[in-house]
Parts: sequence; structure tokens; C-alpha cells
Amino acid sequence: MMESRVSTSPEKIIAPGSTIGVLGGGQLGRMMALAGSNLGYRFVTLDPMPDGPCGQIAEQIIANYDDKDAARQLAALSDVITYEFENVDAEVAAMLMAESYVPQGSELLYTTQHRLREKRAIEVAGVRVAPYAEITSEDDLRTAVERFGLPCVLKTATGGYDGKGQWVIRSMDEIPEAYATLAAAKTELVLEQFIRFTKELSVIAARSPRGEVKAFPVAENIHVNNILHLSIVPARVSFDVKDQAEALAIRIAESMNVVGLIAVELFLTEDGELFVNELAPRPHNSGHYTMEACRTSQFEQHVRAICNLPLGDTMLLTPVVMVNVLGEHVEPLLALMAQEDEAAVAFNVAPKVHLYGKKEAKEKRKMGHVNVLADHLDDALAWIDKTQIWRNQ
Ligand code: AMP
Repeated sequence: MMESRVSTSPEKIIAPGSTIGVLGGGQLGRMMALAGSNLGYRFVTLDPMPDGPCGQIAEQIIANYDDKDAARQLAALSDVITYEFENVDAEVAAMLMAESYVPQGSELLYTTQHRLREKRAIEVAGVRVAPYAEITSEDDLRTAVERFGLPCVLKTATGGYDGKGQWVIRSMDEIPEAYATLAAAKTELVLEQFIRFTKELSVIAARSPRGEVKAFPVAENIHVNNILHLSIVPARVSFDVKDQAEALAIRIAESMNVVGLIAVELFLTEDGELFVNELAPRPHNSGHYTMEACRTSQFEQHVRAICNLPLGDTMLLTPVVMVNVLGEHVEPLLALMAQEDEAAVAFNVAPKVHLYGKKEAKEKRKMGHVNVLADHLDDALAWIDKTQIWRNQ
């Protein structure tokens, strides 16, 4: 994989045996704690939900994310603090930085919490984003739509995820309703040109305080109803596209002085051009494939990066397809797990199941994922099809 180093003075190392505090106790915190526990770290998580995915395997402070007393308690228990979501309250972040060690800092959060700030930072790194405009009125919107042409995507600058807080504008008649609906969120709005992409890709890069940077192999992502369904690795794109995608993720990590992971979501056009869609300063769903398919998982890499240990080798060991398990997939998956998996034998694949310990299997809720390891991607895809679990989505 691509690699580069910049020389910064080596900073402190958080040695195994230390305690890592994680703001947020969902599946990303859980998998981080599982990987970090193997390296000998202890974990404490702050999350309002008792017995959640991370709380089941780590010490837990049960409190809201913006509870300052609870955050102070987390700081007192932790040698280093990280987070598993980017919408960390700014005051809590500042307080944690004052009272504990937060190597990721608060600047990256400030940037990635807001689409406009994020796009500007990506451009400063010399990387392309879809043409965009800041929208502060319906008139602005009309003018920008006329400039970009239809369709366009109107997005809230903050708070959106999995396609929420978005409106694809396909005709001028939709403008008043699109504006009124998204403006009700009381955040700034951004209009993006619609990119007619042929594939959605992502690259996860890690950078440590000592300045070491490494990228994981590019994933090809397929979404259903705006939720990630499959990550296919190696991505079925040219070597040139892979190199470009990895190089731009490294450039972003270096330019933004990232510590820990940065996930870069990309659109690939027919002409082979890459545009960044968005960033996430944390482990990412499209990096779950690394757990069995790479020499180092994204979770171990994140722990290594924030603790300033040397980064692990990101080499891909095997073709893999990661398939997300949503609430509606749990029952059929459990039924499949209870019997001999003849399809796995027939296609010569190894489906590695990860379930997050969430109690209620609500529809569309992310409950787990399966990394289907195979000699050939087609075999992994054939297994997914044969199980019927993910049909009729
Ligand atoms: P986001 O929340 O920004 O990741 O967007 C969710 C999904 O909407 C993306 O994965 C794309 O499939 C689609 N999308 C978002 N922005 C654009 C765009 N500018 N052009 C085309 N499709 C987009």
C-alpha cells in the first residue's frame, strides 16, 4: 500500500496497559475496544445507553454525550481519549482537551462537522469535490441550480447521515419545497452539482502524531436506500484509479494533520475522475472488511495511531465482500448460522460474522456485518445471493 512519512518531532507514546476513553459506545467503539484489548489496552466508554455494543465489553460511564461532569469523569479515568462519532459537542471536546490527552484535537472535528468547512479543507489539500455553493436563501438556491444544471443535491451543512438531510432537486418546481424542508433544520445549506458517478469508492487512511501515514486498499461501495450494503475489495477499478484514490486520501490526512483514521468517500466518474463526497474522522463502515482481510484492521490501526505506536501493515490478504446486517437480516442470518453452510462449502468462501450485541433488531438498524472471504470476488457475491438473506431489499 502507499505510504509516506513527514518528519514531526516524536510525541508521547501511550503504552499498552494504559486506558483509552471512547466517547460513544456503539459498534465502532466496540470493535475499537476489541482490537485495542488485544494490544493490552483497557477501555472506558461514555454512552447514555446501558449495556450497548461497547459497554458490554468495556467499563462504561452512563451519561449523555454533552454531560460535562461525565466527560470530566471520562477524562479522569483515561490516559488518552478518542471518539467514535464526529458530532462531538464542541464544549465537551474543549474540556476533554484541557483535562486529558486528545491527540486527534478538536480542529478535525470542527472541520468535518460542517460540510462547507470540510469541502474547503479538502480543496486546500488540492483534492476535488463536486462543484458546490453555499445557500442562504431560496433565491440563492435558484441561482445556483441554474448555474449547475439539474439534477442537483441540496444538503444540510450539519447533522446529515445515511442520506438524511438531503434533497435531490430534479426540476425547478421543487425548489420552494426543497428549500423550506431543509431550511427548517436551522443549519446552513449547501448545493452540490449531481455527479453522475459510475462507482462509489472509499479509502481509509491513518496518521499518527509521529507523522507516519498509511492508507488501506480502496473499497468499492454499493448502497441500498442510502445505507451501505456491500464493500467490495479489491475495488473493480483500474490500478491508476486505485493509486489516485489512495494518494488523495494520504494528501488529505497530511494536509489536515489528521491523527487517527480519516475515511474518504469518493465518486468515480466515467472519465476516471475522482471527487470527494465526504470525510469521516473515525473508523468507517466501509473499512470493516479490514478485520479479517488485511494484515491490520482499521480498528487496530486507529488505536496504534492515537497511541503513537508504529502503524500496522495495511496489505490485503484476500479478496473480500463485506455485507451489512440490518435489523431485517438478523433472523435469517441466525437461522443460517445454526446449520451447516453448504453454500459456503460450494463456493469455497469463509463468511466471518460480526454481530454488535444490539438488543432490538429494528428495521434498517446496523446490527452487524459479514466479511465474506473468498479466492474470487464472484464467489463471495454468489454466496451472498445464494443465502437469500439480502434479497428484496
Ligand atoms: P452523503 O450523505 O453526502 O454521503 O450522500 C448519500 C448518498 O447520496 C451518496 O452515497 C450518493 O449516492 C448520493 N449523493 C450525495 N451527493 C451526491 C452528488 N453530489 N452527486 C451524486 N450523488 C450524490
